[in-house]
Amino acid sequence: MSTIKKVAILGSTGSIGKNALRVIESLNATNEQAQYQVVALTAHSNVELLAEQARRYKPVFAAVTDAGYEKTLREALSGLDINVLAGADALIEIAALDQVDIVLTAVVGSAGLEAVLAAAKKGKRLAIANKEPLVVAGELLMAIANENGAQIIPVDSEHSAIFQSMQSSGGGRAGYPVPGLVAAEQVERVILTSSGGPFRKASPADIEKVTVEQALAHPVWDMGPKITIDSATMMNKALEVIEARWLFDMPVDKIEVLIHPESIVHSLVEFVDGSVMAQLGTPDMCLPIQYALTYPRRLASVAERLDLGRLGGLNFEKPNLETFRALALGFEVAKSGGSAPVVFNAANEAAVKEFLAGRIKFVSIVKLIECCLEKHQVRQNLSLDELLELDDWARTEVAGKACEPRYATA
Ligand code: NAD
Ligand code: MG
Repeated sequence: MSTIKKVAILGSTGSIGKNALRVIESLNATNEQAQYQVVALTAHSNVELLAEQARRYKPVFAAVTDAGYEKTLREALSGLDINVLAGADALIEIAALDQVDIVLTAVVGSAGLEAVLAAAKKGKRLAIANKEPLVVAGELLMAIANENGAQIIPVDSEHSAIFQSMQSSGGGRAGYPVPGLVAAEQVERVILTSSGGPFRKASPADIEKVTVEQALAHPVWDMGPKITIDSATMMNKALEVIEARWLFDMPVDKIEVLIHPESIVHSLVEFVDGSVMAQLGTPDMCLPIQYALTYPRRLASVAERLDLGRLGGLNFEKPNLETFRALALGFEVAKSGGSAPVVFNAANEAAVKEFLAGRIKFVSIVKLIECCLEKHQVRQNLSLDELLELDDWARTEVAGKACEPRYATA
């Protein structure tokens, strides 16, 4: 018998969003028993692509979160039986819709936070690519998901690899939102892999001169601009350490990072008996996206097959925490917990924006983040409102160059 799963894709016009639609199309074409219906699509301002996707996938809802584009979207979809929504709250409304089974969150930044919380409150399956909400409010999100019977399945490739490597035959941790995991005490450590980004071999002097174009040229992954810059600074891996801390309930000192330039081993889990499990695959986000939709089933996929014989070798090295200060800061912030990750993430989002606009140097990104952290007194047990206020504070510090004007020279 065929089951129809109803999916909302938040951020469908981005790199993850487009891949998710490709995955759904291929699943529907090749698997009669598992069919996926696209119920809602959202974009921030790319109305042209959103309208094209809406015409093709015929969702019940299409939303543009920048309300300035509402009229354009309405015009583009006029005559079609699609409800148009606009504004930031549209994300929250869609995430909580009764007719949605799976919310795939692929928006960029902490802008996705309230929608993620809304989906968790409604007990949905959250296929979570949007890592920033887990970084800034991981504890809160896991608690809400737990209370409301929501399922959280990671899409980030490293966390999907850990999720897959940690699957237990014993049914998972009772009441835990991430399904199927072995008990935490059986895990010795998790090892997140990183390609090392475009500046893996660069000297500090080279990094001083990095241009926007160089930072946007990732050697392995084809991703949106924000995460590509995060990969170049290694902020992405720092955020992923915090993401893993909450997803798998791992103490920070049991999380390690290993540079693996080929990006074939997506991450590893070492168990207390010394056994190490890993998940391997070509660097293609379609794999983790699909598994988050079909879990616990595995179905044929569009991802290119791995040919280890042709590849020849796999390399690993320890990260240089001096060159990549962001990663060292990430571990410190993960240990501090509380409000520290909020400041860390928001300052980064604002600094990346400044860098992409050509207003600050590449090296200033991490300096500005560090400066914001130094100014901030860490607090524990923040409410959502306090957290949003702090997020605003860090962005204003960076954007207004209030933190350290000397970093602002491009
Ligand atoms: P992207 O920039 O390509 O796409 C972002 C999407 O979010 C677009 O649809 C855009 O319209 C929407 N968006 C942008 N700003 C928004 C806002 N303020 N409010 C609501 N929607 C907004 O980004 P991406 O590379 O697809 O990444 C999306 C998320 O997935 C990020 O959190 C990223 O860290 C994570 N992720 C991405 C990859 C990847 O391969 N791209 C891998 C792992 C994790
Ligand atoms: Mg990743």
